Amino acid sequence: MSEQNPVFIPGPTNIPEEIRKACDIGTMDHRSAKFSEIINPALAGLKKILKTETAEVVVFPSSGTGAWEAAISNTLSAGDKVLAAEQGMFSQKWIEMCRRHNLEMQVFEVEWGESCPVSAYAEALKADTGHQIKAVLVTHNETATGVLSDVSAVRKALDAANHPALLLVDGVSSIASIDFKLDEWGVDIAVAGSQKGFMLPAGLSIVGISQKAISAMETATLPRFYFDLREMMKHLSSGGYPYTPIVGMLNGLKKSTEMLLAEGLENVFARHHRLAEGVRKAVKAWGLEMCALREEIFSDTVTAILVPDGFDGTELVNHAANKYGVSFGGGLGRVAGKVFRIGHLGSLTDVMALSGIAAAEMAMVDLGFPIKLGSGVSAAQEYYRNSAK
Ligand SMILES: *Cc1c(COP(=O)(O)O)cnc(C)c1O
Repeated sequence: MSEQNPVFIPGPTNIPEEIRKACDIGTMDHRSAKFSEIINPALAGLKKILKTETAEVVVFPSSGTGAWEAAISNTLSAGDKVLAAEQGMFSQKWIEMCRRHNLEMQVFEVEWGESCPVSAYAEALKADTGHQIKAVLVTHNETATGVLSDVSAVRKALDAANHPALLLVDGVSSIASIDFKLDEWGVDIAVAGSQKGFMLPAGLSIVGISQKAISAMETATLPRFYFDLREMMKHLSSGGYPYTPIVGMLNGLKKSTEMLLAEGLENVFARHHRLAEGVRKAVKAWGLEMCALREEIFSDTVTAILVPDGFDGTELVNHAANKYGVSFGGGLGRVAGKVFRIGHLGSLTDVMALSGIAAAEMAMVDLGFPIKLGSGVSAAQEYYRNSAK
């Protein structure tokens, strides 16, 4: 087993050397002026990545799940009605979190592999003439199924119904890898995490906050303390923190935003699309099917692949890890055992992606999957060869 192999899990992702080095700094007084030289450029970079000029951005010392909690606890009150769709394990967990906060959930259950049901949302919003629905949740990229949803279409549905509900979006496995337009889509809270597209270890969650969401905080009464957005914004506006931040990680975040912006966001998105296309060509060559039901909703950061009947995705993932030292994602929740996932986001090149496709292929052949050794690699090679600049 080698630790030199890249991982192919959809987070945590591979950490570039420059970011690792940036995270490794000595003790720093986070109340000193030096700290603002780290946090201020990091926040400015995040605003560019979220494509916002009007929203505030904050960073919590937590994994992405903490930012889910910040999103709901700062903007809503117990008993508030919230519209959501269960389409995979991540959207399901956010719904469960809402229930524990005593929010009244109106949940559309769709087949795992389907995207956010925008027309059902549109109807529910139109029917809600009394504006009982206070927030609408969207999981931009459902990491369990490899499905991308159309956030701008949900914004259009809200506008068409002239509905004032807040639009809360989980972009943990999309932001910094797939285009995300906070201002243009009218997103009120955007949630991201450090260990996916930002190529950092887990430990920072990122929250983008619209002015409308800030207004909602004045009347929202769910309790919050650690994840109090107003408290966080107040301190950050003077370059500080309400408690002790993870300074090294924030320095890594500064580096990460610099790297992403230096590559150019559109280039980053195009790279992820190409990486994903190569993986999809391989899946097709293997003769396997995606968990995602339609091509238009395929994710550019993670591909969930259905294993053939009689085979076990979890066994495959374990075998690839044990024999080849390569990590893939297993199936989560309702699709446990039925899929395996190839994460292709963050710090990744064509050549690295080919090694993942090759390793998956070897592991599948070892376990007797009905696929031909070399078929997926060859299809991906052909695609990368012809589409590389
Ligand atoms: C990873 C992820 C999260 C958050 O997970 P953490 O482990 O708390 O960082 C939330 N939503 C999606 C879609 C994710 O991929």
